[in-house]
Amino acid sequence: MKNILELKNIGKKYQAKNGEIEALKNINLKVQEGEFVSIIGPSGCGKSTLLSIIAGLEKQTAGEIYKNGEIGYMLQTDSLLPWRTIYKNVLFGLEVRKIKTSENEKYVQELLKKYNLYEFKEKYPSQLSGGMRQRVALIRTLATRPSILLLDEAFSALDYQTRIMVTNDIFQILKNEKITAIMVTHDISEAISMSDRVVVLTNRPGTVKKIHKIDFEMENRNPINCRESPKFSKYFDTIWKELDVHAWEKHIRRKKKILKTNKKEQNISSTYKTSNCNSIYCWMGNIS
Ligand code: ADP
Ligand code: MG
Repeated sequence: MKNILELKNIGKKYQAKNGEIEALKNINLKVQEGEFVSIIGPSGCGKSTLLSIIAGLEKQTAGEIYKNGEIGYMLQTDSLLPWRTIYKNVLFGLEVRKIKTSENEKYVQELLKKYNLYEFKEKYPSQLSGGMRQRVALIRTLATRPSILLLDEAFSALDYQTRIMVTNDIFQILKNEKITAIMVTHDISEAISMSDRVVVLTNRPGTVKKIHKIDFEMENRNPINCRESPKFSKYFDTIWKELDVHAWEKHIRRKKKILKTNKKEQNISSTYKTSNCNSIYCWMGNIS
């Protein structure tokens, strides 16, 4: 399979009021056509920045990017326009780009039919469930026929049950339509259940810490059935530990600094023992 996207030594520095912020450093990644790649990492490590660079919304300050297809972008909120019907919402991207041809409109109608939304086309977003609205948002994005879809925490506003169903639906749609996906998520299970590879980033400046290949060796893999595979918890443990180790290193550095200033180095080991678990769980709740 050929590469649809290649990132070569991508770096990004922002000029902020109180100095320079290095968000990303030396990011190298190749994505193949049809692949589903997830990106996870601590809050503020540059995940959204990376997606913006891939989308062309931000310019990298170092490195090269090669894209071999149109990009579609799905954000955390469905951002449907409440005063427009579902049908007019899914046509919105085509209108903005001035490509609302009869051929494209027919394609949108086919997508609505295929994914059981056609009968709701004259309804308004408020009349649909959260899961259905996310599917509408996806169809609006697919209407412009992107070959690479970027998802930034796209399901995090949904409740747990809805989220499982929606990720399953969206996974099937993307596979059917042969779309390559790059998804940022803070949910390790979501990343494992949907992806062919999971990329773990380090703390800021974000750089690739590890890339995990996910293979459930199933014929009709989908996010729901692979959650039941014995391999699922193995992948989860490995990635979880990787993130934990990272939190732990950061925690130790911070504690050492505080203790040094307070000249209380002799208490270091007992302090770690008591605060270890809490700090890791706090941190895990904070990755986004
Ligand atoms: P993530 O999505 O991993 O939480 P972001 O990509 O949003 O992280 O941000 C990475 C870092 O870059 C953060 O420290 C953030 O404050 C900083 N940053 C993001 N956008 C800008 C900007 N436009 N100007 C200055 N700093 C920014
Ligand atoms: Mg983000």
